[in-house]
Parts: sequence; C-alpha cells; structure tokens
Amino acid sequence: MSTIPDLATLHALGAAQQPSYPDRTAVDAAVQRLRTAPPLVFAGECDDLKGKIAQVARGEAFLLQGGDCAETFAGVTADNVRNKLRVLLQMAVVLTYAASVPVVKVGRIAGQYAKPRSSDLETRDGVTLPAYRGDAVNGYDFTPESRVPDPQRLVDVYNSSAATLNLVRAFVTGGYADLRQVHTWNTDFVRSSPIGQQYEAVAGEIERALTFMKAIGADPDEFHRVDFHSSHEALVLEYEHAMTRIDSRTSTPYDVSGHFVWIGERTRQLDGAHVELMSHIRNPIGVKLGPSTSPDDALALAARLNPENEPGRLTFITRFGAGKIRDGLPTLVEKVTAAGLEVAWVCDPMHGNTFEASSGYKTRRFGDVIDEVQGFFDVHRSLGTWPGGLHVELTGDDVTECVGGGEDLLEVDLGNRYESVCDPRLNRVQSLELAFLVAEMLRQA
Ligand code: PEP
Ligand code: MN
Repeated sequence: MSTIPDLATLHALGAAQQPSYPDRTAVDAAVQRLRTAPPLVFAGECDDLKGKIAQVARGEAFLLQGGDCAETFAGVTADNVRNKLRVLLQMAVVLTYAASVPVVKVGRIAGQYAKPRSSDLETRDGVTLPAYRGDAVNGYDFTPESRVPDPQRLVDVYNSSAATLNLVRAFVTGGYADLRQVHTWNTDFVRSSPIGQQYEAVAGEIERALTFMKAIGADPDEFHRVDFHSSHEALVLEYEHAMTRIDSRTSTPYDVSGHFVWIGERTRQLDGAHVELMSHIRNPIGVKLGPSTSPDDALALAARLNPENEPGRLTFITRFGAGKIRDGLPTLVEKVTAAGLEVAWVCDPMHGNTFEASSGYKTRRFGDVIDEVQGFFDVHRSLGTWPGGLHVELTGDDVTECVGGGEDLLEVDLGNRYESVCDPRLNRVQSLELAFLVAEMLRQA
C-alpha cells in the first residue's frame, strides 16, 4: 500500500498560493468533514480516462478540456451546467465529425473553485484587501469580511461539485447527450449566427447518417450517451489531501475530487508540495507549462510525476502565448520526445494571451487564441508529433469577455456582459468558431 505524506509534511515542503487561514481549528474541522465524505468520482473512472488520454498520447484521439476559469457557488444552477455541457458537446461533435478523430471530453467543471493569483492583494480606489482566490477560499465581494479565507468553503466546494457532477451525469447518460439531439443543442442566440448555421449543416449530415445506420439495424450505445469527465486545478492542499483515498481495488491512492487534476504554472516547483502530493495519486494528471519552462524542467517533472512512463498518466498543457509558442515549444517537445516520454501534449491558448483593455477589463483576443493553436499545430506537424488537444476557458452563455471572433466583439463591448470572476472566457459563438477552425487544423495534422 502506498502512503501519502500528511498535510504537515506537505506544508513543510513549501506550498505556493495557499490561503492564510486565521483559524487552524476551523481548518481541521473542515478537513475532518471532507475525509469522511463519499468520493465524487471512482478510481475506475479515473483509470478509464487515463486509458483515453493514453490514446491521445499515441496520436489516436484528441482531448477537449474546457469550462470556466473559476466556477462559483452561485453558478451551480441547472441552466449554467447545461449550457456549459452543451457547448462542449457541440464542439466535440464538430471536431469528431469534421476531423474523424475520437474526442475525449473533459470539463473544467465540478471542482474548479480555487485560483492562484499573481498578487496577494488587490487595491481599488485606494483600499487594499486580500485578493479573491476563488469561492473555495474567500468571497468575491470587495469587503474585508468577505476576503477573509474561510475553510468551511472547502466543504461548500465538495457540495457544489457533488451537485454539479450529479446533474452532469444525468445529462450525459439520461438522453440529453444522445447524438440524435445534435439539432436541439443548437438553440437560442447561436442558431441564427453564421457559425450556428455552419453547425446546422454538420448536424443535418450527422442526422442523415444516424437515420441510415438505424435503417440498417445499427444503433449502438455510443449514439445515446457520451463519456464526460471532470477536472480542476489541484490547488488548495487541504481539499485535495482530504479527498485522496486508497482505492480498494488496487490499494493505491486516488484524488477522488475529480477525474483529472492539474498542477498550475505557479505551483509546479519540482520540490514543492503540489508536485509531491500529485506524485502519489494515480489519477491522470496535467501540468501547465509556461514560456519559462526549460526542457530539463519538463524532463524532471515527468521523472517525478510519471517515473514508470505510464501512457495517459501525464499531460503537458502548454500556455506560451501566441508570440512565443513557435520559438519556445519546439525544443521542449523535441527533448521530451527524444527521452522517450509518453505524454499527451495539450494547448492552452488562453493564459499566455491575457491583457488589460483600456476600460480595465481583463480580456483576450480571439485572433491570438487561434494564432497560438495554429502555432501549436505547426510545431507538432514539423516535429512529427501529435497535437493532442485543447484546454480552453469558455462558457455556454452569450458573454462579452474576449474580443474578436466572427461577431467582432470590441473592447467597448466588454462591459455589456462581463460575468467572469477571474479570467475572460470564450462565449458560445466564439467557442463554436474555435471548434470549426481547430477541426480544419486537425484535418491537416
Ligand atoms: C488557469 O488554468 O486558470 C490558470 C490559472 O492557469 P495557469 O496555471 O496556466 O496560469
Ligand atoms: Mn484562468
């Protein structure tokens, strides 16, 4: 049986981006509560996903991972969950149909409540308070009371994740994700947009294919349900540690708070607490790699996190920025490949492309997002490696957070419907546009 270091040992290693809780007794109580809570996912499901990511690593499938930058407790509503699921299903259909590649679907959902921040403090109109670190830690309201880290919120993360995952499971197995619903997913504001019409054409072709299949007597299970997995950044050690359990089948530890967990760009220190904890769990995991990552860093991370070189275990999620990917990515991929490492390469075209608009809103240009994905595909094509997937921040709603795209959202439009509590997300039309553009890149990959 594999042993997991205790929380004190992990903290002693130095853990970046942790909340400073004022009351340790309250932290212990929350952790104790979580330790006895039932798992949110099963270890066997994590293994299934690991098997699918192994296909991604081998170049046989494409990973689509997306959702909010930061989920909120208030955002756990049926509409919200359905809309996010719907846009991911629509994107997956476009990618699968247009590129004839199986798509592994993973939401940044049911656990994505904790945020690393570039500054511990936030100043507004001369008032300085602790930064908002996600609903897992403190409140978004800009008041001293709301910004105090409250460990009870970790229990709320568990409950909100459970409610979200329960609904997601109902949607994906209970008929909503049935391929015969391809048309019904294309409703409201999207349907009338040019990209919505392009989607209608794909949906029409799929429908004809399904009718044909049915007519010849083929109606497999795969048409009626999809595999969908949850993921989040494993950031707050108390939460991830409390949710780590020994799997009864294999006697090995799994973080049962989500199927896939990743280590962020700010917490991937080789000797730090996050890498240590993640090295003990058996889930499929990811590590975000920014432009400062040296090939040796990547090799050392792989040695710590996947010493047995198990395919599907480790995903490198690169987030260089459109201006840096073509220069920075090739050596990284070359060295990792030359070392014989089995990793899935996934492109996060969001986090290297954030800037502040003159109006003060944090935003991203749709063109930069596309440019980074194109750079990612170009680099992999020139090296003969597989551009394994896409990691994006998106929402199923008609928000105005990223500029550009077919609707040509301008910086002056950002205030119309800016709802993210952290980073700007692609709206549903922009997300679908991205899917069509990536499908085209995949066809040529
Ligand atoms: C994120 O995924 O929201 C995030 C903070 O990413 P990164 O760690 O790459 O900055
Ligand atoms: Mn983000």
